[in-house]
Amino acid sequence: MLRISQLNLPPGHSMEELTDKICKFLRVRRTDLLDYEIQKKSIDARKKPHIFFSYTVDVKVKDERQVLQKTRGKAKKVSRLPYQAPTPGAVPLMRRPIIVGSGPAGLFCGYLLAKSGYSPIILERGNPVEERLADVEEFWRSGHLNLSSNVQFGEGGAGAFSDGKLNTLVKDAKGRNHFVLQTFVEHGAPADILYEQKPHIGTDILMNVVKNMRQSIQNMGGEFRFHSQMTDIRLENIAQIDDGNKGNVRKISGVVLDGGEEIAANVCVLALGHSARDTFQMLCARQIPMETKSFAVGVRIEHPQSMITQSQYGKTIYSGLPAASYKLTAKLKNGRGAYTFCMCPGGYVVNASSENKRLAVNGMSYHKRDGINANSAVIVTVTPEDYKGTGPLSGMEFQRMLEERAYTVGQGKVPIQCFKDFRENQPTKELGGVTPQIKGDFTPANVRSIFPKELGDSLEEGILLMEHKIHGFARADAVLSGVESRTSSPVRILRSADFESTVSGIYPCGEGAGYAGGITSAAMDGIKTAEAIIRKYSQKLNIT
Ligand code: FAD
Repeated sequence: MLRISQLNLPPGHSMEELTDKICKFLRVRRTDLLDYEIQKKSIDARKKPHIFFSYTVDVKVKDERQVLQKTRGKAKKVSRLPYQAPTPGAVPLMRRPIIVGSGPAGLFCGYLLAKSGYSPIILERGNPVEERLADVEEFWRSGHLNLSSNVQFGEGGAGAFSDGKLNTLVKDAKGRNHFVLQTFVEHGAPADILYEQKPHIGTDILMNVVKNMRQSIQNMGGEFRFHSQMTDIRLENIAQIDDGNKGNVRKISGVVLDGGEEIAANVCVLALGHSARDTFQMLCARQIPMETKSFAVGVRIEHPQSMITQSQYGKTIYSGLPAASYKLTAKLKNGRGAYTFCMCPGGYVVNASSENKRLAVNGMSYHKRDGINANSAVIVTVTPEDYKGTGPLSGMEFQRMLEERAYTVGQGKVPIQCFKDFRENQPTKELGGVTPQIKGDFTPANVRSIFPKELGDSLEEGILLMEHKIHGFARADAVLSGVESRTSSPVRILRSADFESTVSGIYPCGEGAGYAGGITSAAMDGIKTAEAIIRKYSQKLNIT
């Protein structure tokens, strides 16, 4: 297999043209090119108005040695190793492993454990995706919030109603990232996510992928229990001798569900997501080691997608180019950083609340990304110094305080404000040329009043600085909505290098435990957690 890169072709080109380009590059006839697979496709818009797709491709040719000579170092020999799960350990596992949460972390942990013969039980407080979709749409239509089935909770987790961006900054030599994307493709995602530089699925396709993964896990011996919220855990003290010293350590012996049922467990993966506040409270009360952590808060900002597309691709209109995206950062005078986050080209702002009388927003899109607006979070980092509270849950209480203010300011609806009025700290009375694209009821208000003064000032300064990168970003009629508070987990549930808490058998995992940010990294953390369980325990036993 040979790898070649920087094959540039204009938007709208055909696959025929790509094949021709490969043959020309390798200086071989069509019949000498046996096969090829695209590894990466990115957009090169540095020399506008000339825009190209740039390809990296792995090729199989009849005579590799001759091609290597002819291309003089431009083609490189590569070998691709598929992802491999570890070899099972020796400790007998007496009970089926429990996974709490069916977001990307829980789903992929469950997938690998089921594939490796460990028959996991996946507990999910919310509904299966099909029913969940109806609950969420009802909430957006009527404002009636289902506390266990909403944008944050239910099968598929927080990622189910999302833009479905699948890129991650997590580097991984073991092939876990490719394994995640490949598994998505095997369960209904388009194959281009395997090579697009910025792969994305969209809410509509993601729902189906999640449902198909559930069926695979069930077929491999896993079990899903919906409407099953873990409300407590059972712990036991066990005597342990360490370096000759006697002592007690705690271990998990079971989980309690909201109906009162108890399930005995030796292994419990906490893949809770960042919004399981009641569960964080319970774990904190049970003294599961955890700490508060920094996260970021801010607003969603909407602009016309055509403005963003023009700024990124130039004035020439090309067919075959996706809706343009952006990623911006700004260094503020007070030392804080402002940045855009979870940008949704052609997307919608969504009411993403999960608690009564508290309101949070986020962004989503459909696979086509063909909505008229682009939206993104603009956020600034907040640290324990901002929370002015103590204890592991102080960041969570700060999130709650902002969400209560957002609910009050919008009188239960998503509060929106033009950037001009945000700067003047006054409620918006009239909108300009940007028509909000929001799932859920919304109302003009003073979004700035949600924030402590320093954060409001920081957001204003950040947006003004971003105008230097995208003309129109700080336009007077850009629509801001709030509050963007669920950017990452406000807590970290501590774990060792073996992925286990000091409370034996508890495996904190994914975004809620503070080890991931985004769909793919949460899925990869789910895989790593499953690997840790496989490495420790043998699966060949009579599991009950
Ligand atoms: P989650 O996905 O939050 O899953 C946790 C699950 O645990 C939930 O299903 C919950 O119901 C369940 N649960 C919680 N407590 C309990 C309990 N006590 N008992 C039983 N079940 C419980 N990321 C991206 O990479 N790209 C995007 O485009 C993107 N867009 C987003 C858009 C929106 C609207 C939102 C809300 C998030 C978006 N994200 C996106 C973030 C992404 O969804 C998360 O990073 C990811 O879902 C985290 O995965 P997780 O499995 O760790 O947690």
